[in-house]
Amino acid sequence: MKRTIAIKAKTSSSDKKDLSELAIAYIDACNQISPYAYEHRCWNRVSLHNNVYSNIRASSLLGSQMVCNAIFSVCKAYKAQKAKKKPLKSPVVFRGNGSIHFDKRTYTLKGDVVSLYTLKGRIKITLNIGDFQRGFLEKGLPKEAELICKKGEWYFHLTVDLPDPAPLEGDVFFAVDLGENNVAAMSSGKLISGGKIRYERDKFLARRRKLQSNGSKSAKRALKRISGKESRRMKNENHKISKIIIQEATQYGASCIILEDLTNIRERIRAKKRERTRLHRWSFDQLQQQIEYKAVQAGFGVIYVNPAYSSKLCLDCDTLGIRYKNTFTCHCGNRQHSDLYACEKLCRFARSADLVRAVVNRPMVAGEKSSSYKLRPSGRSC
Ligand SMILES: [Zn+2]
Repeated sequence: MKRTIAIKAKTSSSDKKDLSELAIAYIDACNQISPYAYEHRCWNRVSLHNNVYSNIRASSLLGSQMVCNAIFSVCKAYKAQKAKKKPLKSPVVFRGNGSIHFDKRTYTLKGDVVSLYTLKGRIKITLNIGDFQRGFLEKGLPKEAELICKKGEWYFHLTVDLPDPAPLEGDVFFAVDLGENNVAAMSSGKLISGGKIRYERDKFLARRRKLQSNGSKSAKRALKRISGKESRRMKNENHKISKIIIQEATQYGASCIILEDLTNIRERIRAKKRERTRLHRWSFDQLQQQIEYKAVQAGFGVIYVNPAYSSKLCLDCDTLGIRYKNTFTCHCGNRQHSDLYACEKLCRFARSADLVRAVVNRPMVAGEKSSSYKLRPSGRSC
């Protein structure tokens, strides 16, 4: 299991100068490589290396290994674009605040001191390693790293390879239903309201609209600033929510967390225009990724299931009921809280092998499809 830890570097003014020079040369090399990768649709590291290495080596101030790292950064950027499934319309541009990739050949970490490659040879920088980061370093092996400059300060983002935690015993499922009114509904019956997030999003949306209609240079600057602020705030909220979910799953005695497969959710959303704008800006993926990595770290299995009809299907009579606001009702008389009932259904779907998309870290945890499995009419299903 890999985790990335961010460590602030204690840099003198001469260190900052050396690192800034390196960053300029590195970004310049990336920007030289990027048009070739775009033109030839080439983001395989080996083939890009074969095609551009000698030219970049001749024109750049970077050493041989740093040129290889620049090629790696370009491939990574294009692969990230491809993963977003957005068509590439122009070459990826690397900007001044981009990161510099370091591998084992370009950095050495000994205690709190890191020795880094620069254009003027190696420099030694002390890292401000706190107890939190030290805990990871003691348990795992340091791998590659990214050096990032934020507001004039340098941060060393180090990837640490940690041993996989022992999987939790048992087959208790804990489903999490994500939504807008209730950000998360859980099998334990706990609900996390989405009111605060919705209020914040609406506030940002209103400010953004106002600035967009203004169109002046200062409005554009302000727009960029609040966009960063909004995404940071939402990321923080998602961290808090995912932490609560993991704590709740632990108290529940679960061994496996069930999440909805939200692939193509944006295409599936049917809502009014105002709600659609808000929903499309909500970071479903980010929250799920945070739940997933925290769950894996705590030893839970993670299963994604297709959530089709999870909000309308009645488990008592296998027909479609009606969902209105927070209530699910069926003609058979079944009446439940819609989000909590969705959790029950996700648990049942997870036990049915054909609906499962992926078991992230434990191939056998879902069990076999059991025709004898019967869901209890009310109360806990898992
Ligand atoms: Zn029914």
